Amino acid sequence: MNMSKEIQRIPASDVTIEGTADGRTSEKRFYLSGVVLKTRCPTCKKEIERDFGDRYLSYPYYGTPFDLDVWCDNCSEPNGKYDPTYNGAIVKVQLNCSLTVVDD
Ligand SMILES: [Zn+2]
Repeated sequence: MNMSKEIQRIPASDVTIEGTADGRTSEKRFYLSGVVLKTRCPTCKKEIERDFGDRYLSYPYYGTPFDLDVWCDNCSEPNGKYDPTYNGAIVKVQLNCSLTVVDD
């Protein structure tokens, strides 16, 4: 007699997921690999970007707009100290997170 058990799989059509993610993540370093923000520095007009696979968000909120700093190397202070009025700019962003059920 075969006593091994098989894991039962529930079809997606039998599952509902309710609600939307809100609140703050517990991640000090929240990376979004493959997501890159691109724009131009409002001061020097150089093309700048922020790669979220490299530069993480720290304890971001879900579903709530927040200000994000975008660094411009061309406008950086010699000492590297960050100052959005000098080094680049801020842009308002929102982190959306959803969980969906899929069939195999
Ligand atoms: Zn610049």
